[in-house]
Amino acid sequence: MDLGFTAHGQTNKAPVIYTTMDFIILLFAFLFGLIIGSFLNVVICRLPKGKKINGRSRCPHCDSKLAWFDLVPLLSFIALRGKCRHCRAPISWQYPAVELTAGALFALSAIIRQQEPGTTPNLWFTLLRDWVVISALLVTFVTDLRFQLIYDAVILLAAGAVFLLNVIIGAPLLPLAIAGIIGMSFFGLQYVVSRGRWIGAGDIYLGGFIGIAVSFPQILLALACAYLAGASVAIPLLLSQHKTWQSRIAFGTFLSAAGIVTLFWGNQILDWYLHLIFS
Ligand SMILES: [Zn+2]
Repeated sequence: MDLGFTAHGQTNKAPVIYTTMDFIILLFAFLFGLIIGSFLNVVICRLPKGKKINGRSRCPHCDSKLAWFDLVPLLSFIALRGKCRHCRAPISWQYPAVELTAGALFALSAIIRQQEPGTTPNLWFTLLRDWVVISALLVTFVTDLRFQLIYDAVILLAAGAVFLLNVIIGAPLLPLAIAGIIGMSFFGLQYVVSRGRWIGAGDIYLGGFIGIAVSFPQILLALACAYLAGASVAIPLLLSQHKTWQSRIAFGTFLSAAGIVTLFWGNQILDWYLHLIFS
C-alpha cells in the first residue's frame, strides 16, 4: 500500500516519507560518526609520530594517562572546557572539530541515501561505503593541512574496502575502473613531469581512491572542484605575497573536500552543469 502523497506539481519526484526508523538510523549515524571521529583523531595524531594506534591516550602536554570519562567524544571537551584535567593545558580544537564533522557527515549520508530511489535494498552497504570514504578523506584533509602528509596506508586500506563494497552494492565496474585510472594518472603524470616537486606520491593514491569512490564521470567533477577551490585560495595568497610559487599548497586537503562534495552531490552538480551548457 502506498501511503505517500504527492504535492501539487511534483509528479515526477518520489515523495519523501520519514518514519521512526529513519530517525533512529539518522541518530545512530550521528553517534557512530562521533565515535569514529574520536578514533580518526588518534590516527591523525599518532601515525606521523610512528606511535601505535592502540594503547592508552595521554595528554600530549603533561603525559598524564586519560581516563575513559575524559575521552567521551564531544562531551568531555565541553565538560573540561577545552583544558586538560591535570595540567590545564588547552586541548586542540582538532578533537571536537573532527568528531563533530564525522558525526555530521555520517548523518548527512544517511539523509541523502534514504531519499535516493533504489538505494533501499543496499542501504547499509551504501552507508558503510560512504562512511569509509568520509573517514579516509577526513583524515587526509587534516593531515595534509597540518603536517603536509598523506597516509598511503590509510588511503590504500580504504580503497580496498570501498572497491569491495561497491562490488557488493552492484555499482558498474567499468566506470569505477576508468575513474580510478583517471584519478591516478592525472597526478601520476604531474609527478613524473615535475619529478615529484609539484605533488607527492600520496596525491596519486588519493586520486585513484576518489576515482573508485565516486566513479566516472564524477571523478572529473571532483578534480575540477579541487582545482577551483585550490586556485581560489592560492591566487590571493600569491598576489598578497603570503606565499611564493615555490610554496607547497596542501592539495590533498582540497581534493578530500571535493571528493566528499562529489560523493554526495556529484550527480546533481553534473546534471545542473550539463543543463546549463546544452540548453
Ligand atoms: Zn595535561
